[in-house]
Amino acid sequence: GLTGIGALSLTLNQSRATRRHRQEALTDALTGLLNRRALFSRFGTTELAAGTAILMCDIDHFKGVNDRHGHAAGDAVIAHFSAVMRENLRLEDVAARIGGEEFCAILPAVTPEEAKSVAEAIRKAFETRPAEVDAMAIAATISVGIATSGPGESSSSVLNRADHALYKAKDGGRNIVTAAPFRLIA
Ligand code: GH3
Ligand code: MG
Ligand code: MG
Repeated sequence: GLTGIGALSLTLNQSRATRRHRQEALTDALTGLLNRRALFSRFGTTELAAGTAILMCDIDHFKGVNDRHGHAAGDAVIAHFSAVMRENLRLEDVAARIGGEEFCAILPAVTPEEAKSVAEAIRKAFETRPAEVDAMAIAATISVGIATSGPGESSSSVLNRADHALYKAKDGGRNIVTAAPFRLIA
């Protein structure tokens, strides 16, 4: 049988493995960001504290990137964008990859103006810094929709408003940041 030390180290290894598996289940493999499931299990149903901003980012004309450069290069552009986004966020902000080339950031305790300036910084940085893939520079842009939570607003309501703002940004010509109108209190 196992000695005390042997049993202890087995237990520690098992709990490390469990933690690693949990981590893998919550993390997007390509970018290291949270995946969609992790984001929703963290924020899905709860009320957000007032003054929490949600940024929805979607890479513009991404199908064209894949068509011109191939799927692997497309993946590299996605990974590059995730790094640019992370660099422009604070430690307390949460970033997730929620779809193929769709990303979400949650920024606690910000004004709508602060949220807008963070989104602009991400948009600008990505526009001006192409991804380097096999010694080739691949430039791309993003569109961003932002919404900032009002008192007692659910996360799904803020998410819907951010999504709608993203749609407006696409409709407005892409490579722009659009903020949702302030929520009307019924
Ligand atoms: P726009 O958002 O500006 O309207 O145009 P788009 O071309 O980006 O449109 P859409 O969002 O519909 O298409 C996204 C494409 O991204 C579809 C799919 O081929 C590609 N895609 C989705 N997931 C991945 C992925 O993980 N890797 C790569 N390389 N491509 C992906
Ligand atoms: Mg998309
Ligand atoms: Mg897109």
